[in-house]
Amino acid sequence: MVEKIKATNITWHHETVTRQDREAGNGHGGAVLWFTGLSASGKSTIAQALQAVLFEHGCQTYVLDGDNIRHGLNKDLGFSPEDREENIRRIGEVAALFMDAGMIVSTAFISPYRADRDKARSLCGDGFIEIYVHCPVEVCEERDPKGLYKKARSGDIPEFTGISAPYEAPENAELTLNAAEHDVEQCVGLVIAYLQERGILKNA
Ligand code: ADP
Repeated sequence: MVEKIKATNITWHHETVTRQDREAGNGHGGAVLWFTGLSASGKSTIAQALQAVLFEHGCQTYVLDGDNIRHGLNKDLGFSPEDREENIRRIGEVAALFMDAGMIVSTAFISPYRADRDKARSLCGDGFIEIYVHCPVEVCEERDPKGLYKKARSGDIPEFTGISAPYEAPENAELTLNAAEHDVEQCVGLVIAYLQERGILKNA
């Protein structure tokens, strides 16, 4: 999508409270945990379970997922490649703001195109952690918690990732979770261990 800049005469105000100040106050780093993977691979389930653990440990945390974004901020967007790109661009911008607010924000979107994820990475900088929720399409289709694969197979949903639209798997994800072999708790444990290793979490 060609970037259109419509507003001019905009000044970026000097910050009176910086990300570093907020992180020091929170006792943990800000980060964007960018979960990507096929529909029903487990992105939302893992992100929600993770946020419960983080919250219990006193972390400032939030999950951006399909419901709270596609029903609101992005309700004008569909599933064409252009709209998917714009969907991910806006989510990247919002996630970057949450990180700047010192929070650990998880995003749970298929985000099928590598180039779009890379753009989000460049927006978010050092705190961007790409987490590939790997799960074979056959397993996802068997789980099918929302009946979407069934609808895609019968042609009711066009351009369905993994069936009739491509999914470009990450090549350099910071973390890959094997959601067909590890249960939700194990996946959450791996993310927590990674955050500790990176120094984002100090004592969770
Ligand atoms: P996504 O957000 O990727 O579309 P969901 O989290 O909505 O996927 O759905 C994944 C489904 O798979 C849920 O019904 C969940 O209970 C189930 N599931 C089974 N094993 C796992 C696992 N290891 N990790 C995540 N979800 C799992």
